[in-house]
Amino acid sequence: PVLRVAILGLGNYAARVADAMQGCTKAKLVGLISGTPAKIEKWSAKYNIPAKNCYNYGNFDQIKSNPDIDAVYVITPNGTHHDFIIRTAKAGKHAISEKPMAISVKQGEAMIAACKQAGVKLLVGYRMHFEPKTLEVIRMRKEGEFGKILFFQGLCGFKIGDPKQWRLNKELAGGGSMMDIGIYAINGARYMTGEEPVWVTAQETKTDPVKFKEGVDETIQFQFGFPSGATASCLSTYNMNGLDKFFLNGEHGYAEMQPSTNYGPIMGHTNQGELTQPVTVHQTVQMDEFAEIIFHDKQPPVPVDGHEAVKDLKIISAIYEAAKTGKKVSMSV
Ligand code: NAD
Repeated sequence: PVLRVAILGLGNYAARVADAMQGCTKAKLVGLISGTPAKIEKWSAKYNIPAKNCYNYGNFDQIKSNPDIDAVYVITPNGTHHDFIIRTAKAGKHAISEKPMAISVKQGEAMIAACKQAGVKLLVGYRMHFEPKTLEVIRMRKEGEFGKILFFQGLCGFKIGDPKQWRLNKELAGGGSMMDIGIYAINGARYMTGEEPVWVTAQETKTDPVKFKEGVDETIQFQFGFPSGATASCLSTYNMNGLDKFFLNGEHGYAEMQPSTNYGPIMGHTNQGELTQPVTVHQTVQMDEFAEIIFHDKQPPVPVDGHEAVKDLKIISAIYEAAKTGKKVSMSV
């Protein structure tokens, strides 16, 4: 069957997902949930969505009795994912959340529990987990082509605009650049090395305390130690444009990717030469793969479930603690 998806929250990224889904073969956009009637009108005309599959945040729970929708994809500000995903689970629909899955580990664990109890799947929009050049580097690392992995560097950031946007609001964003873009370096450190951090150190710098209020990080540099002895050094920022670079170093080789996580084309090379895997539309591939995971229990090369996402939240929490205390924080995910 085709995965019939309703998108909840019709903002910028939702528009990108909706457009990309027009290229899907295993998933289809069939429903809309929004607090803004004018957006429902515009989107339902554009994507040919029947009125019976359109909801607002008040009547959304009625989606439970709609047999024509399999999954709800929540694409709203980070701090709202928890409640919307739990409502999705209670309505008996498969739940897809954008990253970061939530703004705390506790919220993430509650979302996992709710989906488990409802017998629905919970997936998180980790589009890089399906990106061909990324997967090739992971394959090379797994097959030992770089030798023993020694070091990873991940640099992720962009210069943020409007000071009034939700991304700079602690309640809605859960933090600052780390929650939004630093998470790519964290997740990348994990999938590139194939290890989970056992310690974290971090240093925060803030050039504009008016724009970046208490609890909203502008720039954090952070380091991980892994069980093998490998280390990572990363940077998350809202104050540098187009910062998007991964570097993986092993005893016998390396991979360098830039851009490494933006919408593409992803580019990179290894000690063996240029990465030439095909350029894809990340969201198209992600949604087709999500259909396979939901209907056929397909195991992706790098997980995209709630447990994977809670690991990132645990690491974010350790980074914030390390930045605040100045101490090395031991951890396990
Ligand atoms: P956006 O501001 O463009 O859209 C957010 C939408 O949520 C808006 O339509 C807004 O009306 C709606 N909304 C619902 N409840 C709201 C509330 N309580 N307060 C404010 N707005 C509310 O943001 P965006 O860039 O589309 O980001 C949405 C989510 O998608 C975030 O979690 C973000 O991290 C994620 N995202 C992921 C990627 C990716 O590459 N995977 C890229 C961009 C954004």
